[in-house]
Amino acid sequence: MTPIRRPFTRWRLRPHQGEPSYSYFARLVADEGHNSVKIYATEIGVNGRNIVPEEMLDALRKLPLLPDEMERLRAATPILRDSVYQVGNERLKQKQLSFRHRRVCPHCLATARYHRIQWDVVSARYCSIHGVELVDKPRFGWWWPHFDVSPQGVRLIDPTEAVPARPLPFHEMLRTRLELGERGDGPLATTELSDIITVAQAVGQFAVIGKRSSKDKSCDIDAGYQVLTLSHGERVEWFKERYEALVPAAVRKRGFDASGGPLRAGFDVGGDALWDAVEQAQYEGFAKVGTLGRKFVRRDAIRSDKTLKEAAAALGLPPKGLSKFIQRIGLLPHAKWNGDAISLDTEAFEALKAVVDDLITLPQTIEITGIPGHEFRQVAKAGLVAEYPHMPTGGTFGPRYSRKEVTEIVERCRSSTSAKPSGELKTLISKAKQLNTTQGQLVSMVMRGEITPSLVDQDRLGFRGLYFE
Ligand SMILES: [Zn+2]
Repeated sequence: MTPIRRPFTRWRLRPHQGEPSYSYFARLVADEGHNSVKIYATEIGVNGRNIVPEEMLDALRKLPLLPDEMERLRAATPILRDSVYQVGNERLKQKQLSFRHRRVCPHCLATARYHRIQWDVVSARYCSIHGVELVDKPRFGWWWPHFDVSPQGVRLIDPTEAVPARPLPFHEMLRTRLELGERGDGPLATTELSDIITVAQAVGQFAVIGKRSSKDKSCDIDAGYQVLTLSHGERVEWFKERYEALVPAAVRKRGFDASGGPLRAGFDVGGDALWDAVEQAQYEGFAKVGTLGRKFVRRDAIRSDKTLKEAAAALGLPPKGLSKFIQRIGLLPHAKWNGDAISLDTEAFEALKAVVDDLITLPQTIEITGIPGHEFRQVAKAGLVAEYPHMPTGGTFGPRYSRKEVTEIVERCRSSTSAKPSGELKTLISKAKQLNTTQGQLVSMVMRGEITPSLVDQDRLGFRGLYFE
């Protein structure tokens, strides 16, 4: 018997972005005119009874696909290693992924007939593009190679238009990470997908029933995920509001455990940073509307150290930006600086939080300096005031400045005058004009001691109070 060199006689179909090996394999089987992936696979020596995505990927490697196409297939195919599925750069627990039964979005199939990897995430229920529930009835497995109709003769395609009636942030995140292979740079960018799913599910269940339950499976995972993207303060408010809405006051009076206890209980490993942040918010939210027993008051002392990730999550900032910021402000002595493995005790975190809370945007400097933002920017560019990029406090972009520092330099300039005024004085703007420079440059010169103001008008704001000969 001569071994079959290539698993298919033709490969005019191309793999799509986000398409796993078994989908592409099935499409090629159908293109060969066969009606059973199971029989076809067995014939070419691939396990056809139980889908092993990696095995099908290996078979497809024998096709002369373009390197890009092969990479696309690899990135969307779950590879099992040590009981963990690796999909591109993402990791999922074995039970978080299933391809036993096929699930589809009929509208996506109308756009292009292939399978999207995110449909195999067990906790996924919707298509984030079309907002519809994924269809899993009638049930059929990957032995069936077609995408237009089910083996029972049911049409799988719906060409009508559909858009989500509400935001589906969890499902959109799944699509972004798994289909597009991107993580963005939000606060969860460094968190593993498997951990996000676990925590989002627990919080999503709390969102609906106000506690954890193995019996009641109700869960709004999009709401749960949304909570994970909030700042610490917003999370606390969210828990408070949910406790009030879902747990009767009489129960809340009986304590935290009587009110359902920590969401985290029972989850053994993984997602520690995210869990810590969520748990802290749950306690604080409960404390606002319930009775916290003595055992929980000690909690803060027991687990007070925060990792960089936890600190970033608590402050609603990207870990990368925060890491640079901590270094810039010299919060920790050099000996203690060890990047991601950094640990902030309560005192250090509070100090950090105070500095972060004190940050202001460029537009906010105007009410202190009295000069336009673009003029003040020149003072920062001249290195005379610290400018912090990548610290999107409050969710808005642009550089940040320390309110304290800005106030101090304004005060310093306003107290730098010594000479007695004589003759006609010039304002900051007219002096800058006379010197053929800008207000920002002139302020920089004052700060460097190259020019001294003659008078300060205390009634005028910030640098605008400076007068020159
Ligand atoms: Zn869809």
